[in-house]
Amino acid sequence: MKAMTTQPSAASLDVLLSDLVSAALERRPPTREQALALLAGDDADVLDVVAAAGRVRRAFFGRRVKLNYLVNMKSGLCPEDCFYCSQRLGSEAEILKYSWIKTDEAAELAAKAVGAGAKRVCLVASGRGPSDRDVERVADTVAAIKGGTPDVEVCVCLGLLRDGQAARLAEAGADAYNHNLNTAQEKYADICTTHTFADRVDTLRDASAAGLSPCSGAIFGMGESDEDVVSVAFALRELDPDSVPVNFLIPFEGTPLGSRWELTPARCLRILALFRFVFPDVEVRLAGGREIHLRSMQPLALHLANAIFLGDYLTSEGAAGADDLAMIADAGFSVEGRSEDTLPTARGEQVALRRRGAGTGVPANT
Ligand code: SF4
Repeated sequence: MKAMTTQPSAASLDVLLSDLVSAALERRPPTREQALALLAGDDADVLDVVAAAGRVRRAFFGRRVKLNYLVNMKSGLCPEDCFYCSQRLGSEAEILKYSWIKTDEAAELAAKAVGAGAKRVCLVASGRGPSDRDVERVADTVAAIKGGTPDVEVCVCLGLLRDGQAARLAEAGADAYNHNLNTAQEKYADICTTHTFADRVDTLRDASAAGLSPCSGAIFGMGESDEDVVSVAFALRELDPDSVPVNFLIPFEGTPLGSRWELTPARCLRILALFRFVFPDVEVRLAGGREIHLRSMQPLALHLANAIFLGDYLTSEGAAGADDLAMIADAGFSVEGRSEDTLPTARGEQVALRRRGAGTGVPANT
C-alpha cells in the first residue's frame, strides 16, 4: 500500500523549498519524500514553488531558452500499441499518415527551423524500431542537414534500436538519441503492451554507449499517481540524460486515452518544478501538450524549463512560431544561440583530481 503524502504547511513548505534549492544548487536531487511533498502542495502556493525552482533554472541556464524542432519523417501506421499515441496500432485519430519523407524535404524543413531560431532538430519516425535500411536513410538525412548547417544539433528518435544501429547513427553525425521512458516502470503495462519499460531503458543505454547524447523524458496526465511521477523522474535520473522532455498528454480522440483531460496548469507547473529539482543542470524541455494544459500559464513554465519545441508536434499543431518567440521575449527570456553551450560548463568542475592522501605528502581527507 502506498503511503499518503499530506500537503506541507506554509512554514514547512518554506523549509522544503529552501532545502530543495540548496541541494539543487549543489546538483543533489531531492529525496523521495521531498519530491512527494512538493507534488502534494496546494494550488495556492504554486507561485512559491515556481519561484524556488526558478532560482535553480537561472543558476544553471540563465534566462536562455533553447528551441528544438520536430520533423516527423514517417507518420502513423505503427504496429505498437502505446495508448497515448495517435500513431498507434488501431488508432482512429484522423492524423496525417505517410511513409518516409525524402532527405531533401527533411533537410529543407530543418533549414527553415534553424532560420527561425531552432538549435536542435529532432528526426522522428513512427514504428517499433528501424530496419538497417531506415537507419541508412536517416544517416543520409543527418548528413544533408549537417552539410547545410554544421553547428545544428541533430537528435534521432526511431524507437527501439538493434545492435550496431546507434553506432551507425553516431558515425553519420547524429548528436543525440531520444527514447522516452514515458511513465513509471510499475505503470508501464497500463500504457503499452507491445514492448516493455526495460526495452526502452536498453535502447537508451545502447545510444549512450555509442556516444550519442541521451535524451529521455516522460508524459503526464495518463492517470499516474504522485508516486509514479516521482518514480519515473528518478528512473530517468539513473540514465543520466542530457535532455529531458516533459510532455503533457495530448488526448487524441480515437486513442484509448482520448478522453483524459485531468491536468491543470498548477499540476503541470508542479511537475516541471520537480523535474528542475531532480535535473538541476540538465536540459528540461517543455514538450507536447503545453499549449492545451498550461494555457495562459505557459510563461511561468519558462522559469522552470530551459527549452521548448518550436512549431508543430508530430501529429498535432503547436503554437505559431512567432507567438512563442514573442512569449519568450515578453517573459524576459532570450533564445539560446547555436554557438552557446546548453549544459553548464561547470559540470567539469565536479571532478576534482586527488592531490592529497596516498602517494602525496599531504594529509588524507579523513
Ligand atoms: S509512441 Fe512510437 S512506438 Fe508507440 S505507437 Fe507511437 S509511434 Fe509507435
